[in-house]
Amino acid sequence: MDLSQSQAKKQLEKVFGYSEFRLEQEEIIDTLVAGDDALVLMPTGGGKSLCYQIPALVREGTAVVVSPLIALMQDQVAALKQNGVKAEFVNSSLDGQEVYRIESAVLAGQVDLLYLSPERLLQDRTLNLLHEVKLSLFAIDEAHCVSRWGHDFRPEYQQLFHLSREFPNVPRIALTATADERTRQEIIAQLALENAKVFISSFDRPNIHYTISEKQNAKQRLIDFIKHQHSGDSGIVYCLSRKRVEEFAETLQSAGFNALAYHAGMNAEVRKNNQDEFIHEEGIIMVATIAFGMGIDKPNVRFVAHMDMPKSVEAYYQQTGRAGRDGLPANAWMLHGLQDVIQMSQWINQSDAPENIKRVEHEKLSALVGLCETISCRREKILAYFGEQGQEKCGNCDNCQIPPVTWDATEAAQKALSAIARTGHRFGTAHIIDILAGSENEKVLSYGHQKLPVFGLGKDITKVTWRSVIRQLIMLNFVRIDVENYNVLSLREECRPILKGEQKLYLRQALKKADKKKKQSATNQFVAEDDKDLFEHLKSVRLELAHENGVPPYAVFHDKTLIAMAEIKPQNEDELLEISGVGQYKLEKYADYFLEAISEYV
Ligand code: ADP
Ligand code: ZN
Repeated sequence: MDLSQSQAKKQLEKVFGYSEFRLEQEEIIDTLVAGDDALVLMPTGGGKSLCYQIPALVREGTAVVVSPLIALMQDQVAALKQNGVKAEFVNSSLDGQEVYRIESAVLAGQVDLLYLSPERLLQDRTLNLLHEVKLSLFAIDEAHCVSRWGHDFRPEYQQLFHLSREFPNVPRIALTATADERTRQEIIAQLALENAKVFISSFDRPNIHYTISEKQNAKQRLIDFIKHQHSGDSGIVYCLSRKRVEEFAETLQSAGFNALAYHAGMNAEVRKNNQDEFIHEEGIIMVATIAFGMGIDKPNVRFVAHMDMPKSVEAYYQQTGRAGRDGLPANAWMLHGLQDVIQMSQWINQSDAPENIKRVEHEKLSALVGLCETISCRREKILAYFGEQGQEKCGNCDNCQIPPVTWDATEAAQKALSAIARTGHRFGTAHIIDILAGSENEKVLSYGHQKLPVFGLGKDITKVTWRSVIRQLIMLNFVRIDVENYNVLSLREECRPILKGEQKLYLRQALKKADKKKKQSATNQFVAEDDKDLFEHLKSVRLELAHENGVPPYAVFHDKTLIAMAEIKPQNEDELLEISGVGQYKLEKYADYFLEAISEYV
């Protein structure tokens, strides 16, 4: 181990209270410490922050961290200060005097990490300041914000290109949890990182359990899911529209849950209060549009539920990734339906994006539909999407645990396809089903469709099953649905082998049984029965300290650390220091409170 390596390790232990580096952290840190550039792709919760925070402490000078959101900066700086690190942020939330104070501290060499928004960084005033001082590195967090194609595009990020020219000798690190190849290439080009060493970690989040099922009886299902698996937990419920956010928040509140709402249409102050409450208190369920999430670093979000489909696998992955950052078991739970796909397709069509972008968006949507419809392992499918090979069966998703019941739907599909073709690709699902079911209603008679050879050929199957067959034919890309024209169905080229009997088609049985009550609930399931009281007590001590210090509870200690305390029951400072997550600074600040709380129990 050379000198800088041992220094990095020392900081890890002393400042952050961790004993081992994770994934590729050590190599990334070495790269920066040596003065080279790095591009880091690591899943949410993987531990990206340490990759620049430690080099910032090891290298001489001030590190500049570019971050897209004020909330994100504030959280990180508060957490660093809790660890005794000299960190500051400058953004529009500060008044002139505070900005001046921080600038003076930077000039005096008293700031190890300075968090800035991209706009602020590129102001002349800031650039001049930075030219005056020694800089240890630039860290560009959430680097996928440079990508036009992405879900968080921020035009100012593209201006960061200039950093390489303005400060050619300062190493730069860009970090993101968005993994696809296109975004990666764009980050390299937009940020001039051609010479950067690229670190791609596995995108697997083994502690997240995936469940995706058909949208039926959504409200009751959500209530059951939370009641049976997550009572008392913090979680996020995503909805597509403001209206649905309000509806679902109300539903949960009347069912007795501690739920809050968050969407862009709300009064800014109320919205901010709700966000603060979610971060600072325990056991709150946030019902939100996707406006909520980036920058929410709360480590003990135990579930993310989607009541509507997002628009791509990337978006789904990023949103579900907000669950279980602390590495403890968490749930990603989604309901999806054909209506979502139709809605989303319409939005894509109606946007004023150029045709090539619309095409990519349709492809992305269809990849997500593929994930929803798959009868094999979800995790394997997600990892494959990101170009990674997983195991065939992860054992921790719905399809692995309760393999879907499938049936040979080849003949049924042929009948449906033929009904669509025989009626001239001019009708929607309901009419096609009426023909198959042999309903002699007015519309059928008026077109003379009772005379078709397929009329009544599908009487052996219920209408509900027909609906499911047609839905899956659409989702699996055998049938096209024209969302601009009354949802009229037509055949796609891909259905030919089925029509000709060259390919068998197995479909999912209509709806799986409701999610089994496998898991119990809450974090305290990881705590031994005998230690539960102590754990709850430690949590209340933590909450009090957090309130006193004006920081979120996890900035005091993570759940994991409290669980370890409850289990090991340290009796003195040395024993407490052994626990993961307890560093020197926090020891000095909090040891008395926690040691006392523990001693009451032993
Ligand atoms: P990301 O930014 O990649 O989502 P964070 O940097 O927020 O992830 O880290 C996620 C969690 O993992 C944090 O609580 C952090 O303290 C913890 N962590 C990071 N590195 C380590 C490590 N080497 N050992 C233990 N915990 C770690
Ligand atoms: Zn699986």
